[in-house]
Amino acid sequence: MELLTEDIVPEYAREAKREARTFAAEHIAPNAEEFFRTGAYPWEVLEAGQEANLVAQDISEEYGGRGFDVVQMLAIAEEFYRADAGIALTLQLASFGAEMLETYGTEEQKEAYLRPLAEGEAITGLAVSEPETGSDLTSMTTTAERDGDEYVLNGEKYWIGNGVEADWVTVYAKTADTGDRYMDYSLFLVPTDADGYHADHIPEKMGMRASKQAHVVLDDCRVPAENLVGSEGGGFMMLAEFFNYGRVVVGGHGLGLAAAALEEAWDFVHEREGFGRQVADFQAVQHGLADMRLEFEAARALNYRAAKKVRDYENPGLWAAMAKTKSTETAVDCAQQGMQFHGGRSILSDRRIARVYRDCRIPVVYEGANEIQRNLIYRQSREE
Ligand SMILES: Cc1cc2nc3c(=O)[nH]c(=O)nc-3n(C[C@H](O)[C@H](O)[C@H](O)COP(=O)(O)OP(=O)(O)OC[C@H]3O[C@@H](n4cnc5c(N)ncnc54)[C@H](O)[C@@H]3O)c2cc1C
Repeated sequence: MELLTEDIVPEYAREAKREARTFAAEHIAPNAEEFFRTGAYPWEVLEAGQEANLVAQDISEEYGGRGFDVVQMLAIAEEFYRADAGIALTLQLASFGAEMLETYGTEEQKEAYLRPLAEGEAITGLAVSEPETGSDLTSMTTTAERDGDEYVLNGEKYWIGNGVEADWVTVYAKTADTGDRYMDYSLFLVPTDADGYHADHIPEKMGMRASKQAHVVLDDCRVPAENLVGSEGGGFMMLAEFFNYGRVVVGGHGLGLAAAALEEAWDFVHEREGFGRQVADFQAVQHGLADMRLEFEAARALNYRAAKKVRDYENPGLWAAMAKTKSTETAVDCAQQGMQFHGGRSILSDRRIARVYRDCRIPVVYEGANEIQRNLIYRQSREE
């Protein structure tokens, strides 16, 4: 059964999808179990992805990338996440947030920070969440104060992908108290070897174990004033716009995971026997598989529709939130059903279905918990 078909993918995005599939089969899927078990950082796979020009390639050709748009990034994401979500997250986080630098950065910033990502010589991360605040972007407490020709950053960030491994990260910090909480935050390029930047890995995770997150402490961390991205006070707006793009791609995380769950469940019940027949011969099981397929196809249709809406700036916030919510929850539902169909074997930790079941808990939370997405869906539907 072919689930991640090309028919729904616009023609111009199919080549990227094919490349991603070939790469995933050669480099991601064969390493999935080992990196999940060890929780090691998959440097070799990341380097292979950089060499294959499949990492950080949404950066434009002008700065050394391939200029993939959101539809192409979605097509790559579903292939990578089908093969393994933990390794896939590491590959995609290598340029997480750099899209904002490309849109709002200066020429000097882009040459110094963006080009090395596209050329596979550096990796980055996006530092927004904090130990005490995740969903509420207007309650972050990390500050950046102007001091002459520098900014001084103080505070803590949590969950920061590549916070230890990255060469630099984009930090979201409070720069003012204007009374308009949407205008109080700014973004800064912070090299991870800057004085006052300290990062440690967070405790081991139960899912997506091949990706690494950090607890970052900024202790009088000084960066040149020219490391401000865009204008002071524009951080929230830049982030909100970036999340429209990011959420469509996170929908792809869900689609890849849902496809993996359905494939695993399908194969298992067609091989397993009970009561003198194949488990798949029971109508209850067939209905379960049919429901998985129905939800998967509905989610995928919505997700590609949303990708085009975001690409074309047609009410992007609404469509991105709907795609992210539907696809990531479809992954949870498919994994749940897939586990049940595996019987006792579902809980053997080297099984792909058990990995998918744990991994799929994450995309329903990151890039904005799905409750936040529902708030956006309601609010933006009302405004339509
Ligand atoms: C594996 C992983 C990788 C991550 N990578 C990064 C990264 O690279 N950079 C980064 O900055 N962050 C990252 N995050 C953090 C992620 O974005 C946050 O976990 C997420 O935004 C939720 O924040 P929180 O965990 O603090 O939950 P909280 O904000 O404390 O929310 C907890 C729960 O409360 C409920 N809730 C909260 N607010 C509302 C509301 N308004 N309405 C209804 N219900 C609500 C929801 O059920 C929510 O899940 C990552 C997280 C994970 C798990």
